[in-house]
Amino acid sequence: MERDNAVKARIFAAGEEQTRAADSLSVPPLPTMVVVKRMVREHLLPMKGYLALSLTAMVVVAIMTGLLPFLMQMTSDEIVVAKNLSSLYLLPPLVALVIGLKAAAEYVSGVSQNYISHMIAAELRTRMFGSLMHADLAWLERTHTGRFTSSFLGDITAIQAAAGIGLVGIGQNLLKCIFLIGAMFYMDWLLSLAASIGLPFAFRQMRKQRKRMSRSSTRAFQEQGDLTSYVSQALKGIRVVKAYGREGAETGRVREVIDRTVEFAMQMTRVQTASGPITEALAGLGIAAAIFYGGYRGITGSMTPGEFMGFITAAMLLYQPLKALATLQTTLQTGVAAASRVFAIIDREPKIADAPDAPPLVVSDGAITLDHVSFGYVPETPVLNDLSLHVPAGTKVALVGPSGAGKSTVINLILRFYEPDSGTVSIDGQDLSTVTLKSARDAAALVTQDPFLFDDTVEANICYGTEDASLEDVEAAADAAIAAGFIGELPEGYQTPVGEAGSRLSGGQKQRISFARAMLRDAPILLLDEPTSALDSEAEAKLQQALDRLVTNRTVIMIAHRLSTVKQADIIHVMDKGQIVESGSHAALLKKRGVYARLYKTQFGKQEESAEPKTSAPPKATKPARAGRKTKRPATSI
Ligand code: ATP
Repeated sequence: MERDNAVKARIFAAGEEQTRAADSLSVPPLPTMVVVKRMVREHLLPMKGYLALSLTAMVVVAIMTGLLPFLMQMTSDEIVVAKNLSSLYLLPPLVALVIGLKAAAEYVSGVSQNYISHMIAAELRTRMFGSLMHADLAWLERTHTGRFTSSFLGDITAIQAAAGIGLVGIGQNLLKCIFLIGAMFYMDWLLSLAASIGLPFAFRQMRKQRKRMSRSSTRAFQEQGDLTSYVSQALKGIRVVKAYGREGAETGRVREVIDRTVEFAMQMTRVQTASGPITEALAGLGIAAAIFYGGYRGITGSMTPGEFMGFITAAMLLYQPLKALATLQTTLQTGVAAASRVFAIIDREPKIADAPDAPPLVVSDGAITLDHVSFGYVPETPVLNDLSLHVPAGTKVALVGPSGAGKSTVINLILRFYEPDSGTVSIDGQDLSTVTLKSARDAAALVTQDPFLFDDTVEANICYGTEDASLEDVEAAADAAIAAGFIGELPEGYQTPVGEAGSRLSGGQKQRISFARAMLRDAPILLLDEPTSALDSEAEAKLQQALDRLVTNRTVIMIAHRLSTVKQADIIHVMDKGQIVESGSHAALLKKRGVYARLYKTQFGKQEESAEPKTSAPPKATKPARAGRKTKRPATSI
């Protein structure tokens, strides 16, 4: 037992840390009324029609429920006691009509409530996905994707339940309570007071449960986020898991998180399940008091059997909505905790956004300039230090240097994935922070070492970002990227699905599709982040021709570790510790015998040190040069 507790304590201590790491977005729940008001304003009021229908149906249900005790009273007094024959013909159809109307109104209210809650979930999911798509990379990278996935699915489902069953159900049951309590007070206010004996305790209890529910559901959602993170991480890294024989260890790790989710889910269940019976017990106290006092009045003759029956019917009918209210308020609290998490994502304003009235970038040549740029992903760790770099239009520039020197960061800033801390990045003399984000990103095509393909067809992947392209254009791009051959051999050609992240294709094939995508985009600037480094020399050689075509007539920045691939760049910049430490052609840099020469020697040995680069013939451009873009230099193979 002691050991069990120690194990449990360890799991939970570890859990605290893991939760903090995976869920940097953890937020305390917002006050219930703040969330309820916001949900009403932003999500319920726009659906006024359905809301009105649902509310009308709710009122009908409540009125019909409130009428039932009176009918019971009349039945008892007029039929049973007074033996009135006309009441015998009148009251049963009236009871049937009231119950029938109640049933029909319940149906209408149920369907409209569900429609409203589904629409709320749909709207929240769309807003959340939109926020994530527009969010800053820096912020997205700080939070585990599992946190987003669990919010997108689990949290919004909890909000849906709270909005549908909770919010509307609370309204319906509250109305029922009001009508029934009204009916009771109308019948006999003194007896009603006796029946309400348990109510103050019930309300106090409900408030306590709301607080406990808020705490447990926030933790349960956090654990759910962790669980999603672990599962997605383990599946993404399944090859590493298997290669290192960590299947059992990963299963154990996930089991620990599952144990914690069960613990917090059980805390919620205990609160939720207890709320109904506690209210029931307190309501039972009220009914007992009413029977005692009503019975006494009946015995002393100050109350007719019909009045007594009618009152007890109302008290019994009140029982159910009261119990439902107690349970529903805990559902509502779960929704409030979930909404606090979802709003933390939806309300996030991206820092990198269009300035008001920002004009679009006008690309004339595609020259890129970084002027005294300093930048760090985290404030205390600078990555680029006062870096200045000019890439003239139509030239091929290579960035080389040791790992971590900041080469990819330069590309990240040109694409405005991040904003420099100081200095400017401009294209054709226009500061990127002053033009629209879309126009700046449209000016460039990015090809990375690990091309990302969507789980869609080959055609859709080539067209990504250029959806209006015709099939002929797609085929021409694939042809230019030397991808047409293997695409033709795929079972369904251009319509073949590539699998998740392109898993049904080889590395070289995926890269050629990404080249075709960039070719089709036909952007004046091409950013190549080690596009061939994931391939072996043979596959790289095959890709070289496609790469040569891709770089033709564009301004190109190419990052490469293998110096053989950058020999023929117009200029090579060697970066180290966020600065350019050497610049020049391959031959000039070798002569300098500096950092580049040392790197080259490490890769190729002494004998090649003096080798002059061969100038290859400019490849045949498969696409005409872009209209309005001057090509200042002949296309060069890099
Ligand atoms: P490599 O050749 O290994 O790809 P690189 O020269 O391209 O390296 P960068 O990727 O620009 O280097 O990274 C420069 C520094 O910035 C590194 O120290 C790296 O750890 C850090 N860094 C890169 N991306 C991020 C990020 N998203 N968040 C925090 N730090 C980062």
